[in-house]
Amino acid sequence: MNLNDRANSLYGLKQWGKGYFSVNENGELCVLPERLEKSRISLPDVINEVKTQGIELPVVVRFHDILRSEVKNLNTTFNQIIKESGYTGNFFGVYPIKVNQMREVVEEIVDAGAEYKYGLEAGSKAELLSVLALNTTADTLTIANGYKDNDYMKLVLLGRKLGRKVIVVIEKFSDLKKIVELSKEMNIEPMIGLRTKISTKGGGKWSESGGEKAKFGLTHVELLKAVHYLDSQGMRHTIKLLHYHIGSQVPNIQTIKDAVIEATRIYGELHRIGVSIDYLDVGGGLGIDYDGSKSTHFSSINYTNEMYISNIIYGIKDICEEMEVPEPDIVTESGRAISAHHSCIITEAIDKIDHTKHDMPLDPEPDCHHLVKNILDIITDISHDTPLESFNDALSIKSQSEDAFKLGVLSLSEKALIEAGFWRICKILKEKVSEMEYIPEDFKDFNVQLSTQYLCNFSVFQSLPDTWAVEQLTPIMPIARLNETPTEHATLVDITCDSDGKIDRFVGNKGNKQTIKLHDLIEGEPYHIGFFLTGAYQDVMGDMHNLFGRVNEVHVFNDEEDDSNFYIEEVIKGSSASKVLASMQYHPEHMAYVIKRQLDDLVSKRELSPREGVRLIDFYEDCLESYTYLKSSQRSL
Ligand SMILES: *Cc1c(COP(=O)(O)O)cnc(C)c1O
Repeated sequence: MNLNDRANSLYGLKQWGKGYFSVNENGELCVLPERLEKSRISLPDVINEVKTQGIELPVVVRFHDILRSEVKNLNTTFNQIIKESGYTGNFFGVYPIKVNQMREVVEEIVDAGAEYKYGLEAGSKAELLSVLALNTTADTLTIANGYKDNDYMKLVLLGRKLGRKVIVVIEKFSDLKKIVELSKEMNIEPMIGLRTKISTKGGGKWSESGGEKAKFGLTHVELLKAVHYLDSQGMRHTIKLLHYHIGSQVPNIQTIKDAVIEATRIYGELHRIGVSIDYLDVGGGLGIDYDGSKSTHFSSINYTNEMYISNIIYGIKDICEEMEVPEPDIVTESGRAISAHHSCIITEAIDKIDHTKHDMPLDPEPDCHHLVKNILDIITDISHDTPLESFNDALSIKSQSEDAFKLGVLSLSEKALIEAGFWRICKILKEKVSEMEYIPEDFKDFNVQLSTQYLCNFSVFQSLPDTWAVEQLTPIMPIARLNETPTEHATLVDITCDSDGKIDRFVGNKGNKQTIKLHDLIEGEPYHIGFFLTGAYQDVMGDMHNLFGRVNEVHVFNDEEDDSNFYIEEVIKGSSASKVLASMQYHPEHMAYVIKRQLDDLVSKRELSPREGVRLIDFYEDCLESYTYLKSSQRSL
């Protein structure tokens, strides 16, 4: 099997990688920012460079060229299918910055999208402030969504004054009066979008954005009321756009189709009553195949970008032809699909928790409890019995021993012997099973029971919030040694003190799995694990659980001139402990002062030498200024 096929069967690489990743002859995971083998960037090389620059792990690695590829891909595919189909409208996409608001990310998208007149979407006042400063051309759209106060509306009108195509989307009827009054007051004509509630629901984890109970949007009654109201104000012509959004990560293409048909009907009906609308905005929802299963599972999608685009274009076209109304320009607000692939988080497995490795000798006292004897008998007979028999017997004795201990029947050393015997059995079975070609169905749990926990230097809450909150599957794999067969069935735990800070569902090549195959750790050699497709929502949404702050970040660019093929343009330092503490209202200087005063006290009582006192306070202050994650020198096996 070649290395790419192996990485696919172990980690689903080809299925979620979208052609952006491949394994080189040294077993290193590479990024292909333009999906071309000739410009391959080795991730281990990037991590070496990161470490050489003194940047600690975990680190977010962004590939700006992937962002550019995605922007280009979306726009060219739309333009191509529009051309093929003879559709008479144009495509004017916008990127919703809430998906990843990092300035460099948005700037890259704006720059890559300029030739396609690709615009931006804001969902709050702060986001609009950002978008007004970044999207400065007159021919791209700016869409202002979300609930609005007067300041938000005035910012929209300021954008209009600057000559921009800023469309204010009305999410609730009362907002309409506000915008009409303000535009008259400021003497600036608005461009109005109406968000409609449609009955088609998105499906998946974010389906509450659609349907009648959605928190945003106008009902059909309100839609007509809005038209009449604007008519009465002599402003019917300011209605420029019809908007809907049925939720993010829509798993099923049929839902996309149903929604666009329903919305186009509304567009057509409005046209019939004399409201000619320029743009039909189909919102977001274009999904990512995180688990590579091409299914309607909430971490997957059963369609490609091309199918999505084609269904939108032909969906609108068919209904418009039937209703004999002009074909509108199409707006999409795809965020996830643009930004998910461009970033990943790389960290180090610093240790593993493996109970099967112990050095307790299994020599009981002659008069020990019969449960101890029983478990040792299993070991003696292990070659005669089937693995499943041995395992089930061992499991049953282990559970009896727990009760026996609680009742005071077993001593602590007898209990420890049973535990040690149990893990010894597991270890023997593990080897037996790994040699088996076919693993019986009812034995699958065994791998889970026996899995080793790899302790990874990162926080699930900071870096993979959706994995914790909505059980989103995240593609995970080691970035090196992909030419070696991994031997361990593992789950991952993070360094927070929270039992939820773990990962025990992984992408496999057929559906998801409860364990991931990893390599054994080698003393003195770091083992790097990557978490992929984290560019949408994940790396901007994390929280500071346990005061683990933002992660260090590097921006990697493709460099054709350079042998190593890449350069790191930007390093953004993650949070120091003092920064995280300050955000929680602590005063780091005062904290240091408290410690210093106590140390001074000890010095004056001669319980501490002055030199030692200075050393300790310096150490405390250093820790305040350091990264919140573990220093890698702490790795021990
Ligand atoms: C969140 C959101 C989007 C982005 O959706 P994706 O599925 O990430 O593309 C687009 N439009 C609106 C109104 C949103 O709330």
